[in-house]
Amino acid sequence: MPLRLLLIAPHSSYRIAPYLQAAESLGVTVTIASAGAHSLISVISQGLTIDFSDPEQALAEIIAAAEQTPFAAILGTDDMSVALAANAAKALGLAHNSPESALLARRKDKARACLQEHDVLVPAHRRIELAQPLTAQLETLKYPCVLKPLAMSGSRGVIRVDDIAAAQSALARIMTILREVEIAEESSAILAENFIAGREVAYEGLLSAGRLRSLALFDKPDPLNGPFFEESYYISPSRLSSSLQQQITQTVDAACKAYGLQQGPVHAELRIDAQDKVWVMEVAARTIGGECARLVELATGQKLEKLVLAQLLNLSLPMIEFKGGAGVLMIPIPNAGILRRVEGTAAARAIPGIKELVISVRDGHELKPLPEGSSYLGFIYAVADSPAEAESALRQAHDQLKIITAPLFKLTGLN
Ligand code: ADP
Repeated sequence: MPLRLLLIAPHSSYRIAPYLQAAESLGVTVTIASAGAHSLISVISQGLTIDFSDPEQALAEIIAAAEQTPFAAILGTDDMSVALAANAAKALGLAHNSPESALLARRKDKARACLQEHDVLVPAHRRIELAQPLTAQLETLKYPCVLKPLAMSGSRGVIRVDDIAAAQSALARIMTILREVEIAEESSAILAENFIAGREVAYEGLLSAGRLRSLALFDKPDPLNGPFFEESYYISPSRLSSSLQQQITQTVDAACKAYGLQQGPVHAELRIDAQDKVWVMEVAARTIGGECARLVELATGQKLEKLVLAQLLNLSLPMIEFKGGAGVLMIPIPNAGILRRVEGTAAARAIPGIKELVISVRDGHELKPLPEGSSYLGFIYAVADSPAEAESALRQAHDQLKIITAPLFKLTGLN
């Protein structure tokens, strides 16, 4: 009988398709657990329907399903599903991260406190309790600082503020964003932390029984000084010195040990300050999002999702070292409005080294930049002989694009 994987995912997750493909190529069958009872995609609608806002009930449904068709492994694709995956794997006696460690990798306040306790470098931080008087709490902060939700991703709601007036207006914006958070505990406070100036990198690795294997390290060559932190360039392999790269791996390893993570993908974002000290921005028990996964594929010769499944199911995969450079630019949203059209795509695609350019927002749709919306419009992907050439190709291609928007007028007060 083929091995069966339970994939827990929000039904709209773009990560579902690559995992389905990876499973198929490994001869593994998949059941999807999501809230997508009415999905048009049959593997989702015919899968297990669960309610993410009721984790206990969702866990009970997964256990009942496993009695009918046993699972060889369970995987959560996104921040919101890794904790449920950990609980379900534990209940079914499968290899897993402890539910506590999975929660740490999702909750920014708990994660910061844990890492600090284990002497891993993280920004000084404190919770702002939203039910308590706010001004008194904001007066005690050291500026500049960064305000952020306790559990969101993609830099949503993450705002740098330089003084108390900016903190007050940022807080109001974040509180509006928090209205969509279903778990009350996660909308009762926000996190405030010192702003760490420096270069940023993204790290991708895989844990097997607590041992960390590095898959790829990406430089983010554009300064990320805020007030909002949009994803833009990811270039690999990293051009940092090998001693700094080693320090980065050691820092991620120390963070995984502090959390108690044992298994599966690890995605981290780190900052290197002027003294070459490595600070953890985030260590999460999931893969990197979006198009950057294909940079991992180039670096290893294997699709990231296939590497993740192979590790989880104890299957071995050969890795091929990549010589050259590659990069992805998540095309930033220039301003809010309605997307009319994007000009210059043909010229951008003609730049040597550009392999793909995709505008994922359709003409006529609303563009909503950070901190409320998302950061990007689409992506450009480049492969070249060196990381510097890949970066230069992306910059030239981006220069060709002209993003035409129209103002958005919302009708209010109509019945
Ligand atoms: P998310 O999980 O939504 O991506 P993060 O907490 O990782 O949110 O923050 C997103 C980005 O914001 C980071 O990658 C970093 O560029 C910036 N950032 C967050 N916190 C800090 C900080 N304390 N100092 C400097 N930059 C920060």
